[in-house]
Amino acid sequence: MQKGTIGVTTDNIFPVIKKFLYSDHEIFLRELVSNAVDATQKIKTLSSVGDYKGELGDLNVTVSINEKAGTLTVSDHGIGMTAEEIEKYINQIAFSGAEEFLEKYKNDANAIIGHFGLGFYSSFMVSKKVEIRTRSYQDGAQAVMWSCDGSPEYTMENIDKNERGTDIVLYIDDENKNFLEKSEIETLLKKYCRFLPIPIVFGKEQEWKDGKYVDTDKDRIVNDTTPAWTKKPADLTDEEYRKFYGDLYPMMDEPLFWIHLNVDYPFKLTGILYFPKIRNNFDINKNRIQLYCNQVFVTDSVEGIVPEFLMLLQGVIDSPDIPLNVSRSYLQSDSNVKKISTYITKKVADRLQEIFNSDRKQYEEKWDDIKLFIEYGMLSDEKFYEKAQKFALLKDTTNKYYTLDEYKTLIESEQTDKDKNLVYLYATDHIAQYNYIEAAQNKGYSVLLMDGQLDVPFIGMLEQKLEKSRFVRVDSDTVENLIRKEDKKEVSLTPEQREMLTTVFKSQIPTVEKAEFMVMFEAVDETAAPIVITQNEFMRRMKDMSALQPGMSFYGEMPDSYNLIVNTLHPLSQRVLSESETACGNELTPLRTQLKSLNDEIAKLQEAAKGKKDEEIPVADKDALKNKEDEAAALRKKEETILSDYAAQNKLVRQLIDLALISNNMLKGEALSRFVKRSVELL
Ligand code: ADP
Repeated sequence: MQKGTIGVTTDNIFPVIKKFLYSDHEIFLRELVSNAVDATQKIKTLSSVGDYKGELGDLNVTVSINEKAGTLTVSDHGIGMTAEEIEKYINQIAFSGAEEFLEKYKNDANAIIGHFGLGFYSSFMVSKKVEIRTRSYQDGAQAVMWSCDGSPEYTMENIDKNERGTDIVLYIDDENKNFLEKSEIETLLKKYCRFLPIPIVFGKEQEWKDGKYVDTDKDRIVNDTTPAWTKKPADLTDEEYRKFYGDLYPMMDEPLFWIHLNVDYPFKLTGILYFPKIRNNFDINKNRIQLYCNQVFVTDSVEGIVPEFLMLLQGVIDSPDIPLNVSRSYLQSDSNVKKISTYITKKVADRLQEIFNSDRKQYEEKWDDIKLFIEYGMLSDEKFYEKAQKFALLKDTTNKYYTLDEYKTLIESEQTDKDKNLVYLYATDHIAQYNYIEAAQNKGYSVLLMDGQLDVPFIGMLEQKLEKSRFVRVDSDTVENLIRKEDKKEVSLTPEQREMLTTVFKSQIPTVEKAEFMVMFEAVDETAAPIVITQNEFMRRMKDMSALQPGMSFYGEMPDSYNLIVNTLHPLSQRVLSESETACGNELTPLRTQLKSLNDEIAKLQEAAKGKKDEEIPVADKDALKNKEDEAAALRKKEETILSDYAAQNKLVRQLIDLALISNNMLKGEALSRFVKRSVELL
């Protein structure tokens, strides 16, 4: 028997493995099974090129548990190893600069294993002793057993072993007894080995006999050796693509589209990505893209490998160029990985363009579901925007779909304003904004429906990208003003008349929760509505944006600010004006005269104080100014009371306001029932 010390420059690698690799213990199984698969594939290759002339025989890899002996064994019929090969591949471990690296990655077993090529040694994470029993494929090879109990010393001796290949026998240590449980190994095989290219046997097929399940003598194969992504797209039916998706994510609805990836150059990559039908956020977080390396599962946290916006996709990516055992930070800076990300973006865009070109009807039917991905992509990835602008769709309120170019052509003639800006009208709620939509349509405008989760930032982006274009929500102004074709008509009211109407209307607006109103005047025309309520576009957008950004809730809590716009050319608003003047004129005239002379005096006093420091102004002047200002305020208050008392009697005023509120869906509860009563009275 030969004895020796494993060739590591650091004192002892085993404490390191045990001590630092306390997380991710389970990956030892992935490492051992992949080694077995590699050895098996090598013998197949040797045989196919004629370098191995013997029988291949059964090539399955077998995982087995012996509870009594406390062992877990991974067996293959691969190329096996000679004593020299064990010396070379197992006993000599390149291990320079180890301490520093270990310190850095002590929580990342993957990184350590990958860095030192320690796949096999990961078995010591869970074992007190490991044996390798192996016989090389070479003619007349002597079988050997290598054994090591977790100290740097190993033993190696000749054994009898008839079959070609390797058994790795793990004597599971006390802390890791769970790896002797069938269900645990079952789960791990399902996680890491589900799509390995060589059949993996674990236990026997069972059958129902005499009231219970019993083992048959048929081996149970736990993996699918030719998963869909390894096949040629031409050999797969839609049904098979759907079935594979269902196998991966059993609880999901059918996918909308899929993209079969297949690259050879400049890196190798295959895979199938699916556009899922998303029902809720839970689906996204739970069912993520899985990353494989030669059919070995690596991870399902693909941040940095797949572009951020495509993380919403599902499916499988397999690339031997994605290093299996590396840390996340390494992965993200790896240039191959970066190329992969760019490639996937391009491929996804090309595929969408293809579906758009070949079957626009189907594409439109699915648009509402895929819109989220595409808008997210366009918002977050400049290259994707470039491609997607040709197949991104806008939907109008009549459920028609247009590309950006088509829509531009559609609205160009009717919706260009006097400054040659193209105005895109949009609604966010088909029902609540119904009246505005209808008014705009009657005027020959088209209105987009922008009710998606990302439409607010999407609109913002389009405004920056599209030249001379502006998005205006359909309820943000009177229909006449949404797209200004000519300069506004002057409002011909005197300042007194303005003040009067402002008070008359403002005093009669019922309280609406979380809403604030400003009375404004516009000379629209006599056929338009006498009063409309609009919402300020800028304020509304600030609120919308803040809803998407935590920490900006300040805006979200503010009341919505609305404009109550009085159309001064409408006969009814003119009637309100003349009636108010007649009813309140006598009372107001003396007040106004008084107020005017007060204001003159105030102006004089202010003029005198102008440019002076506070202590230079005579006390008497300051007192006089204060008194007069108080007096003026009292007069104004009085004037207001007269007008609002009058307005409260004027049914027309309230009726006009209520009508405007109703078309905005803002008249509710008691205010609404008062409106109904008043309407009956007026009839
Ligand atoms: P890696 O697989 O990354 O090279 P490992 O420590 O897992 O690192 O294995 C070291 C080497 O030992 C392998 O490259 C292979 O040559 C040899 N080896 C490991 N397991 C087997 C096996 N089951 N059959 C044949 N050779 C093996």
